[in-house]
Amino acid sequence: MIVNTFCYNYKRTYFIIYDSDEIVNTNANIFSIFARNVKSKRKGHCAVALSSNLCYNKKNVTIKGMKGVKMEVYLDNAATTKPCAEAVAAAVEAMTEKYGNPSSLHRAGLNAQLLMDGARKAIADSIGADSGCIYFTSGATESNNLALRGVSAAYGRKRKKIVISAVEHASVEETAADLEGKGFEVARVSPREDGRYYAADFVNACDEDTCLISMMYVNNETGYILPVKETFSAVKRRFPDIITHTDCVQAYMKLPVKASALCADLISMSGHKIHGGKGTGALYIKKGVRVLPVITGGKQEKGIRSGTESVPMIAAFGAAVRKLAPTISDRYDKVSGLKAYLLGKLGDMENVTVNSPEDGSPYVVNISAVGKRSEIMLHFLESKEIYVSSGSACSKGQQSGVLGQFGIRDKRADSALRISMTAETTEAELDLFCEALREGMEKVRG
Ligand code: PLP
Repeated sequence: MIVNTFCYNYKRTYFIIYDSDEIVNTNANIFSIFARNVKSKRKGHCAVALSSNLCYNKKNVTIKGMKGVKMEVYLDNAATTKPCAEAVAAAVEAMTEKYGNPSSLHRAGLNAQLLMDGARKAIADSIGADSGCIYFTSGATESNNLALRGVSAAYGRKRKKIVISAVEHASVEETAADLEGKGFEVARVSPREDGRYYAADFVNACDEDTCLISMMYVNNETGYILPVKETFSAVKRRFPDIITHTDCVQAYMKLPVKASALCADLISMSGHKIHGGKGTGALYIKKGVRVLPVITGGKQEKGIRSGTESVPMIAAFGAAVRKLAPTISDRYDKVSGLKAYLLGKLGDMENVTVNSPEDGSPYVVNISAVGKRSEIMLHFLESKEIYVSSGSACSKGQQSGVLGQFGIRDKRADSALRISMTAETTEAELDLFCEALREGMEKVRG
């Protein structure tokens, strides 16, 4: 079998092996086995490694016995995604060539500034906004904090109520709870008995005393799509002064996210959920909306978020957006097909129930392996190099209560697993997951 190898110089040479253009494996142990194979056949020949920038050599090498290679199956893309080659290249460029401080007045600073400007424009274009409305942060947790704390500080002297959904990510829920402790009233809107949200329930929770409504677009645990557009437009019709914020972390680059179509004044986004890097995010702030800073200092980001910007991660964020923005609907269709394939296979399995709604985001599929505790099953799967999550990644095994809001309680909640995909996920990977789950259902003790 002819495979392409790329040389990566790390202590001894390791190999990352591609079958045609597809990565067959990314496990260092397996590489070293193949590395030995290759070396013994081609003494002194340094074949090489992986993606993009690290490559400095490329050769074709024949390797026998490729069949039966164990695959790592990463199905935890709602927790984080693998950076795409374009994002890695952009970060490397920022770290090796354009490493100036964007606030510096000399050319090195300007070069870094230009990289940031490019990323800011890509993100702004992707949501139909002006570049001047995008503020970089350290991630969506900070974006959500800035939205809630910044708006309540700006408007909260007169209006002391905040409305949120009861299924928000901890970065909204905990921030709202903190503000509650500081004198704000927080109304948490639950789904109805049918597990669904209705715009009217949010509108009814708002009143003249409300300064902010915050509502996520796609729930990170189940993939449920909240009616953000309907809610925000209805809220704005009745209470034009209420500021609308949506946490779009699990929707951005997966569903169309447009600021004006959503009637959103504020939008939170995260770089590492979309094949960029960790530690960067953005908050869209509509022109004219007042948000007071949470972090003060050198007045970067027009004083809204002080601190030297993480240019490499911002450049990576922009590169990922440039790559993904044109293919949102193609990827959505592809992942919808993968979800249907997965559900088809799970349908045959006894004691496996699906917790995600049919019309949810296909990128997140929540299931229960009833009778098997999530964490035990998760580690069983991990022993086979299959990575999924139990509930939300941020809760580290602790139940967040969000599943209960959707009517998933007791044994079903205790045994919930989240499978989250990308457009690069393959049916073969889902086959391996289903096979391992079936085995786990037999072998794992609850
Ligand atoms: N909001 C949602 C819906 C999320 O899923 C996450 C992360 O899982 C966050 C916010 C936090 O994002 P970050 O990791 O960029 O702080």
